[in-house]
Amino acid sequence: MKIVVCVKQVPDTINVRINEKTGTMEREGVPTMVNPYDLYAVEEALRVKEQHGGEVMVLSMGPPQVQDALREVISMGVDDARLLCDREFAGADTLATSYTLARGFARIGEYDLIYCGKPAIDGDTAQVGPELAEHLNLPFIGFVRKIREVRPGFICAERMTDDGGEVVESSLPAVVSVVKEINEPRLPSLRGKMKAKSFEAVTWSAADLEVDRERIGLKGSPTWVVRSFTPEPRGGGEILAGGDSAEIASKLAEKIRELGVCS
Ligand SMILES: Cc1cc2nc3c(=O)[nH]c(=O)nc-3n(C[C@H](O)[C@H](O)[C@H](O)COP(=O)(O)OP(=O)(O)OC[C@H]3O[C@@H](n4cnc5c(N)ncnc54)[C@H](O)[C@@H]3O)c2cc1C
Repeated sequence: MKIVVCVKQVPDTINVRINEKTGTMEREGVPTMVNPYDLYAVEEALRVKEQHGGEVMVLSMGPPQVQDALREVISMGVDDARLLCDREFAGADTLATSYTLARGFARIGEYDLIYCGKPAIDGDTAQVGPELAEHLNLPFIGFVRKIREVRPGFICAERMTDDGGEVVESSLPAVVSVVKEINEPRLPSLRGKMKAKSFEAVTWSAADLEVDRERIGLKGSPTWVVRSFTPEPRGGGEILAGGDSAEIASKLAEKIRELGVCS
C-alpha cells in the first residue's frame, strides 16, 4: 500500500512574531519542529507499511527549511518525501493550503491512504485534513484514536466524539486525521539517521503543480488576519477560604451580589 502523510513544520517557540503589515506569521529565523500530531500520523503510516508492505511518503508545503523536518521523518523510516515550495504559496490560509496540497496529490498520482495530524499546533484550526478530503473528493475520518483494521480498499477506525466514540468504516483511498491517543511515535533508527543525512526531498513549484494562481498563497486566501494581539493578563483573582463549603458558598454569593451581577 502507498500511504502519504501530510507533515507541517511549525515554530518551536511561543514567541511567534506577526508581520503587522500583512498580518502573517514571521517564520524566518524562528526555531522549528515537526508538528507533533504529524509524528503520530507518520507512526501510524509506518505500522501500515509493516503490516502490508508498500511505501510511506510524506508531503509538505512550506519554505526551503522544511527540508529539515522532512529529514526528521525520514530518520523514523519514511521512504520518500515531496516539498511544495514556491514564494507564491506563502501566506496561504487553510483553504489555499489544502488546495495546494491537493494539487500535490494530483502530481503524486496513485495512493491508498492519506494521514494527517488533527491540528497543527501553530494554526490549530484542524481544517486542512477535511478540506483536503473535499478537494480530492475522498471520504474523511477525523479525530481517529485507533485504527481497528486497514487493508487495501478498506479501513475501520475508532474516532473520538464529544460523547465518547464512534467506529467508522470506509473505502480507500480516504483521508484520516489522528489524535495523540493513537500511538507512541517511534524514535529515529540508526539506519534512518544515515539515510536522512544526505536526504533532499524533490521540490515542486506552482508551475510543476499546474495550480490555479488565483487559489494559492495570500492572494488565493479568502480569509485573512485583520489584527493579532496578546490578550492582557488577567488579575490574580481571589481565593475564598475558611469555613465549610456552605460558608464559602455564601461568601461567594455575597461577592457576586456586590458585583451587581444578580440580586
Ligand atoms: C484566517 C487565517 C489566515 C492565515 N494567514 C496566514 C498567513 O498569512 N501566513 C501564514 O503563514 N499562515 C497563515 N495562517 C495559518 C495557515 O493557514 C496555516 O499555517 C495553514 O493553512 C495550516 O492550517 P493549520 O495550521 O490550522 O493546520 P491544521 O488544519 O490544524 O492542520 C491539520 C493537519 O493538516 C496538515 N497540514 C497543515 N498544514 C500543512 C502544510 N503546510 N503542509 C503539509 N501538511 C499540512 C498536517 O497533517 C496537520 O497536522 C492563517 C490561518 C488562518 C485561519
